[in-house]
Amino acid sequence: MAKYDYDLFTIGAGSGGVRAARLAGRLGKRSALAEEWTVGGTCVHRGCIPKKFYVYASHFADEFEAARAFGWDIEVSAFDWPRLVAAKKKELARLEGLYEKGLSDAGVTVLRGRAVLEDAHTVNLGGKLITAENILIATGGRPQMHDIPGAQHMITSDEVFDLPELPRRVVISGAGYIALEFACIFRGLGSDVTVVYRRTGVLRGFDDDVRKALQEEMEAKGIRFVFETVFEEVHKTDDGLTVRLANGDTLAADCVLMAAGRTANTHGLGCDKAGVTLASDGSVMVDAYSRTSQPNIFAVGDVTNRVNLTPVAIHEAMCLTETLWKGNPSKPDHADIATAVFTQPPVGTVGLTETEARKRFGEVDIYRARFRPLKHTISGSTEKVLVKLVVARESDRVVGVHMVGMDAGEIIQALAIAVKAGVTKAQFDATMAVHPTTAEEFVLMYEKSVG
Ligand code: FAD
Ligand code: NDP
Repeated sequence: MAKYDYDLFTIGAGSGGVRAARLAGRLGKRSALAEEWTVGGTCVHRGCIPKKFYVYASHFADEFEAARAFGWDIEVSAFDWPRLVAAKKKELARLEGLYEKGLSDAGVTVLRGRAVLEDAHTVNLGGKLITAENILIATGGRPQMHDIPGAQHMITSDEVFDLPELPRRVVISGAGYIALEFACIFRGLGSDVTVVYRRTGVLRGFDDDVRKALQEEMEAKGIRFVFETVFEEVHKTDDGLTVRLANGDTLAADCVLMAAGRTANTHGLGCDKAGVTLASDGSVMVDAYSRTSQPNIFAVGDVTNRVNLTPVAIHEAMCLTETLWKGNPSKPDHADIATAVFTQPPVGTVGLTETEARKRFGEVDIYRARFRPLKHTISGSTEKVLVKLVVARESDRVVGVHMVGMDAGEIIQALAIAVKAGVTKAQFDATMAVHPTTAEEFVLMYEKSVG
C-alpha cells in the first residue's frame, strides 16, 4: 500500500496550481487539488480574462468616433453595464467548466474547500486529514486593502467587475498595472476618473520614456492624476463618497478603487507547522527550482512574489513537473519576460529599461520614435505611438524593446522571441518592413537618438 494518499497535493486551482496538478495527473501520478473559491483562480475569474473583456468594451467609444471620421453615420445611444457583466459571467462559467474537465480528464481529484498545512506531508481540508508525498503551494495573492477610516467603502479588483452599475465618478489609489488599466477602462466607458499616487509619474519600474508617454496619453483622454499624496479617509455622503487626501484636498466619487498592490495568500496556511519559511512580505521563499525550506513542499506563482504574471506561474509549474517527475531538473527562467499593460493606449515591453541597461552595460545606444499612426491621420485622434530600442553598444544586442501604442501587447509578444534569442540591432536593420503597419517602425530606426 502507498505510504501517502497522493503523490502530489496542490493547494490552489489558479494558473500555476491547475497546470501542475494536471501535468502530474497526465503522467499517471496520484494528483489532488484543493480550491476554496473558483477553479481557474485570479486570472480567469478576477484578473486577466474579465479585465481584457472590459478593455475591449471600453475601446468602442474611440472606435465609434473614428468610424464617423471614416465615413460611417452611426448613432450610439447608451452603454449597458449589466449586459457586459452578464456576458462576462457567462463566459467565465464556460471557462471554469473547461478547466474542471481538463482536470478530470487528467485524473486529478478536485476537492472543494480551504486547505491548511498540518505538517510536511499532511493537509487539513475542513477537518479531513490528507497525506501526500509532495505538496505544492499555489495559493496566489489577494489585493492589499489599506486600513484607513472608511476603508469599508472602498473596493478592490476582486469586486470591481461585478459593480451593480457603471460608476459616474471613479477615484483610484495606485499607479501600477491594475490602477492604470481600470482608469482607462472606466474612462473609455464614460466615467470621470482621478488617479491618486504617492509619488510622481506612473508605472514605476518601467522605462522612463514609456512612463512619460503613457501619462501624456492618459491625460489627453481626460484622466486626472493627483501625485505625491495618499488617501487619508473615505466617507459616505448624500451624493456618494468623499475621499480626503493627505494633502488636504477632497475628491467626490461613486466608486473608490484601492489598487495599491497585492499580497501573498499565506495567512493562516500553516506554513510554520510544515517548516515552510516565509519572506518578510509574507510570500513563500523558494530556491531556483521552486522548492521551499521544506524539501518536499514546493511553491509556484504569485504566492512566491517573483514575477506575478499568469504565463510565469504556468512556466514555473511546468519546470516543477520536469524536476519532480521527468528526471530533468529545470529552473524557471525569469529573464526577458515580456509584459503588456492593457491601458489605452497599451504598453508592451520586454527586456531592460534604458536606466537598467546603462547600469549593466555602461555604453548603450537608444533608438526612439514617437509618431502619429496612419489610422489617426483620419480618425481625428491625437494619440501618438512610442517605439524604443535599447541596444548594448559593445555586443550590438537589443536588450530592451518598449512600445506605447495600439496593439503593443500583440507586437511585443512577437518581438520577445527575437530578444530571447539574442537578436542584434544589425538583424533588426536587415529585416524588411511590413508596410503600412505601426510595428514596421521597429525595423526602420536607423538613426540613434540623442538626449
Ligand atoms: P491565483 O490565480 O491567484 O490562484 C490561487 C488560487 O488559490 C485561488 O483560486 C485561491 O482561491 C486559491 N486558494 C488560496 N488559498 C487557498 C487555500 N488555503 N485552500 C484552497 N484554495 C486556496 N497576469 C497576466 O499575465 N496578464 C494580465 O493581463 C493580468 N491581469 C490581471 C488583472 C488583475 C485585476 C489581477 C488581480 C491580476 C492580473 N494578472 C495578470 C496576474 C495574474 O492573475 C496572476 O499572476 C495569476 O493569476 C497567478 O496565478 P497563481 O496560480 O499564482 O494564483
Ligand atoms: P503594482 O505593483 O503594479 O502597483 C501597485 C501600485 O500601488 C504602485 O503604484 C504602488 O506605488 C502603489 N502602492 C503600493 N503600496 C502603496 C501604499 N501603501 N500607499 C499608496 N500606494 C501604494 O500592483 P497592482 O496591484 O497594480 O498589480 C499587482 C500585480 O499583478 C502586478 O504587479 C502584475 O504583476 C500583475 N498584473 C498584471 C497585469 C498585466 O499583465 N497586464 C494586470 C494587472 C496586474 P509604488 O510605485 O510607489 O510602489
